[in-house]
Amino acid sequence: MFTESDAEGRLPKAIAAANHLRQINSEIEIEPHIADVNHSNIEQLIDSCDVVLDGTDNFATRYLINDACVKHNVNWIYGAAVGSYGVTMTIRPHQTACLRCVFEETPAAASAPTCDTAGVIMPIINIVAAVQVSEALKLLTGHVDELHGALMQFDVWRNEWRKISIGKPLPDCPTCGLGEYETLNAEARDFAAVMCGRHAVQISPTDSVHIDLDALRRKLESSGDVKANDYLVRFRTGEYELTIFQDARSIIRGTDDIATARSLYSKYIGN
Ligand SMILES: [Zn+2]
Repeated sequence: MFTESDAEGRLPKAIAAANHLRQINSEIEIEPHIADVNHSNIEQLIDSCDVVLDGTDNFATRYLINDACVKHNVNWIYGAAVGSYGVTMTIRPHQTACLRCVFEETPAAASAPTCDTAGVIMPIINIVAAVQVSEALKLLTGHVDELHGALMQFDVWRNEWRKISIGKPLPDCPTCGLGEYETLNAEARDFAAVMCGRHAVQISPTDSVHIDLDALRRKLESSGDVKANDYLVRFRTGEYELTIFQDARSIIRGTDDIATARSLYSKYIGN
């Protein structure tokens, strides 16, 4: 999906992936979105989808996808990997257990290995993705009886493969039983999150705005080293590097401290 020249060209991953997929098959229609998925846009993003496959790296986003897909009755296929271990599960809203039926609470911080502490090896990603895509094919062709119906776990280093049946939705599940969808009702605020394994913080503004990247590039040129393309501006000052996207989202490298990142954001981008 990505090459060294994508990195040199500073292409957002959504654009680079779309370009490569179009080269593989020019007959498919691809709509890349450069965005941070959160409560303000998830319902719009999944609207009219037949199936959602995730490859996210944190439980907050998975619960968000789970709430949105169950609320809008969209099938979704959870997939995750860390180290040599991977897991996947197919959720058909109100037909099968959802992610929150199986994992009621987010694992406590620091209790689970993350890509920061454990890294990930490539083959496990391929295995999880292959099972996810097989499930998607079954769903899209109406072969629901062939779905694996389980929490599938694989460890390619320890040579362990497990299949735990997930069963029916739980009546007291906050999402599919009680319909609370708490992650979709979050208060409007900006989002700041430390990014796993990257010594970086991401800041997403409350409201979606469209910023003039060309004007921003000119404004920043007097304060440091600036590089830009059609999708983003990258600005280096001292030990920090700020990447700003068209929707005003920014990734600030060189710190794990949210307060430092916020102050750099307001200093160079505003608000
Ligand atoms: Zn549930």
